[in-house]
Formats: sequence, structure tokens, C-alpha cells
Amino acid sequence: MEERVRAEINSFVTGNPANRLAGGEGPYFDQPLIGFAGIDDPLFSAYKEIIGDFHLTPREIFSAAFGAEPAGGTVICWILPIAVAARKSNRDQAEYPSRQWSLTRTHGEALNGMLRRHLVDWLTAEGARALAPQYADTWRELPETPKGRASTWSERHAAYAAGLGTFSLNDGLITAKGIAHRCGSVVTDLVLPPSPRSDRGYADNCLYCREGSCGACIGRCPVGAISFAGHDKNRCCEYVYTTIPAAVAAEYAVTATGCGLCQTRVPCESGIPRGRR
Ligand code: SF4
Ligand code: SF4
Repeated sequence: MEERVRAEINSFVTGNPANRLAGGEGPYFDQPLIGFAGIDDPLFSAYKEIIGDFHLTPREIFSAAFGAEPAGGTVICWILPIAVAARKSNRDQAEYPSRQWSLTRTHGEALNGMLRRHLVDWLTAEGARALAPQYADTWRELPETPKGRASTWSERHAAYAAGLGTFSLNDGLITAKGIAHRCGSVVTDLVLPPSPRSDRGYADNCLYCREGSCGACIGRCPVGAISFAGHDKNRCCEYVYTTIPAAVAAEYAVTATGCGLCQTRVPCESGIPRGRR
């Protein structure tokens, strides 16, 4: 069943006519990375300390949606690596994201949403119960928490639990296909073997966090939201959700622009940087 789940996600993304940048410049996303975390993985309880007590466990989300506790289950997670055309165009940007990057943020993310819904339907047809936390009644965005803007479910933290990458100085998730991606997840009572997680540390793929070098993302941020002390989430969000859309959303004809300057023209853009390792 594990292989069938992987094949379903892969074929939905790679064979989807919606996975095309306008203008024939290639796909939004390359082949996905896929991982599984157990529904009762202790990391999800730990997130209540690490992120905040508002962050829900997959068991809480599932039980609220279906009115019953699952006997067991899985969080199915994926990474959709942003294809080279959008990454390349964003490398030359210094203030605002490129058109291709913003199209990926709007239309590529719509495809990511289609994948969440498709996988729920597919699992249901297979006899399992499933839901996408992002679309559950329990999902909420919290604009102000002690850790800045947050929500009741973090796709990146789920992907970390599923062994798909580690965190970074700029608060991204560096995966085997790099930091430039969109990610998603579905919670199900289908039991699948959990994917292995690196035991090297929660930010081991980031050169600065691992060996104190790099810091390239710091110089890429036009508003100084990254420093060796970390990522200023509030400053970043103000720029990404207010300043950039006001400047380019109408010109690009998109509803969300993203930014991603700190995810392109950096050593972790499309893979795990080797450093001194
Ligand atoms: S650019 Fe360097 S310091 Fe910044 S997240 Fe990537 S590896 Fe880490
Ligand atoms: S996403 Fe943009 S604003 Fe936010 S830290 Fe990265 S470069 Fe700075």
C-alpha cells in the first residue's frame, strides 16, 4: 500500500496538466518527495511546547473531524520541489520575487491544494478515513503568537516529522531537493511504516546551523529579516504579505506572490549543501 500511495501522489503531480507554468516554461514542480509519520509520533506532542499549545496533534485533528479516535494512522507528507525555471528567474531578483515565482506561489499552490483533496478522496475510495489538516474545521491562522504568525497545523513541521528535511537559519525546511518547495499533508487512519528521520539534529541540513558557515540567505533578504541570530518572522511576514503584493500582485495577476529570495541563489536552493562534510 505504501508504494501505491507514493505512485498516486507522483502521478497526480507529474502527469497533471495544471502543473505547467503559463507560457510553456516548464512545470511548477518536479517529482515530489514523499514521507510518512506515525499519527502518535511523540514529536507532534512536543510541537505543543516548540510551536505553542495551539498547535494540534494529528490525532486531535482526526478525532475532531470524525468524532472518533483512530486505532492508529499516518500523516502522509510531501514536498513539491519548485522547478528550475521559477528558481532561476528568482535568482536575479533583489527586491521582489519574479513573475514565475509568484505564479508558482499562486497556481502551483492551487495544484498543491488539489493534491490534498485528491489524496483524501483516493484514500476514502480505498476504505480509509482521511482529511487534510489545512482544510479541517480545526485549522486556524494565528497572526500573533509569541513565535510570530502561526497556525494550528504546520505543514513544514509535519514534513520534518516524516523525515523529509531539516530546518534552517531562515526558518525553511531543507530537503534532498533543497529549500525551494511547497509542502502538504493528509492525516489518515491507514497505517503505513514511518519514514526514518535523521538523528543528526533538527537543523543539520543548514550550513550555518551545522558548521557555522554560509549565511548566504542573510544577504538575500531585502528587509533584513534574517541574521545570524535567526529569522524575524514578523518583519518577513509584513514584507511577504503586505509590501510585495502591493507592489507586484496586480502586475503579475496573482493572488499570492510569495518571496523566496532567501531560497534562491543560496547553496541550499536545490539540494542539501555539502559544506565541510
Ligand atoms: S543559505 Fe546557508 S545559512 Fe541560509 S538556510 Fe541555506 S544553508 Fe543555511
Ligand atoms: S521570504 Fe523574503 S522577506 Fe522573508 S526572510 Fe526570506 S527574503 Fe526575507
